[in-house]
Amino acid sequence: MPDTQTTNNKPQTSTSAMNFNVNDLVRKNVKQLVPYSSARDEFSGEAKVFLDANENSLGSPTTKWYNRYPDPHQLKIKEKLSAIKGVQPKHIFLGNGSDECIDILFRAFCNPGKDNVIICPPTYGMYEVSAHINDVELRKVPLLENFQLDLVHMETRVDDFTKLIWLCSPNNPTANSLHREDIEAVLNNFPGIVVIDEAYINFSRQRSFVQELAEYPNLVVLHTLSKAWGLAGLRLGMAFAGEDIIDICNKIKPPYNIGQATQDLVLKALDQVDDVNEMIRILVKERDAMAEQLLSVAVVEQVYPSDANFLLVKVGDAKAVYRALLDKGIVVRDRSNVQLCEGCLRITVGSPAENTALVNSLKDFGAAL
Ligand SMILES: *Cc1c(COP(=O)(O)O)cnc(C)c1O
Repeated sequence: MPDTQTTNNKPQTSTSAMNFNVNDLVRKNVKQLVPYSSARDEFSGEAKVFLDANENSLGSPTTKWYNRYPDPHQLKIKEKLSAIKGVQPKHIFLGNGSDECIDILFRAFCNPGKDNVIICPPTYGMYEVSAHINDVELRKVPLLENFQLDLVHMETRVDDFTKLIWLCSPNNPTANSLHREDIEAVLNNFPGIVVIDEAYINFSRQRSFVQELAEYPNLVVLHTLSKAWGLAGLRLGMAFAGEDIIDICNKIKPPYNIGQATQDLVLKALDQVDDVNEMIRILVKERDAMAEQLLSVAVVEQVYPSDANFLLVKVGDAKAVYRALLDKGIVVRDRSNVQLCEGCLRITVGSPAENTALVNSLKDFGAAL
């Protein structure tokens, strides 16, 4: 689904049968925390002379306009995102990449050494790393052979200390979207927080869950500018959730987590939704063409259906193919050591020229055998 100027036409009242109270889930130290109050929090009006934040009024010799601290609440960005995503600014949290959003959710809700979370491998590696960093028990409920959720197994692993369930849809590295009814079943039955990482949603035919925030008070949706928007270097991730969850994330984030340079460039980028949507169309077309072409390459055993900007491709001897590609200067991701992805490479859909180079190199490999 491309990012479009949508508005939320769902009623803003909770229709959830579940009695969800975020205060029962948040860590006690976070609940009691008095957040850091920045100079810009204590005075945010107009003035001639700002001598309240120990900034350098002379400015840097390199660049004159980055001597002031950035807006800690990133209000201008949130207003633009609000129009694009159809979500009110109070439902938006911004992180230094989704990776910061992921870490902050662990820190807000999971007591180290006591609570646990559920992930569904094979999936994005940061959930596991963040869990380890925060000393939080990780319970793995592997995807089924068809890369869908194993709801029966999941239910047996949830207990009173399970705070978060991490779902990734479309999923990295399997490239498929999870069944919507399965995600809804988790949202309806799990009394903790369900995080849906939609980093690749713009390449997918599926509808985003961002429009379901009113329906599910336990829902957090993650988006990023790193993929469809082509801005991985700027580091901007978003969490969409109910106001109470967003307030908690804001309370514990570093005050100036989004730098001024990023804020400036992101504000420009957000005016170019139409160009981004055109780019998404090109990448999706390239993806589908590349999938088609790969099917006729000798070394390729299987191309899995993709709702993302990459393909999971089964090649048998993945390590040999990986090295052969590397010899030609093409780097892909070897996922063959990952459970359910045996023999597979994960190949990002690049520019038309890059994709042609990739397909031709794989053809050469087939010919050399
Ligand atoms: C690439 C990716 C992200 C993006 O992370 P950023 O920190 O925003 O760059 C998030 N989730 C998944 C599943 C990804 O593959």
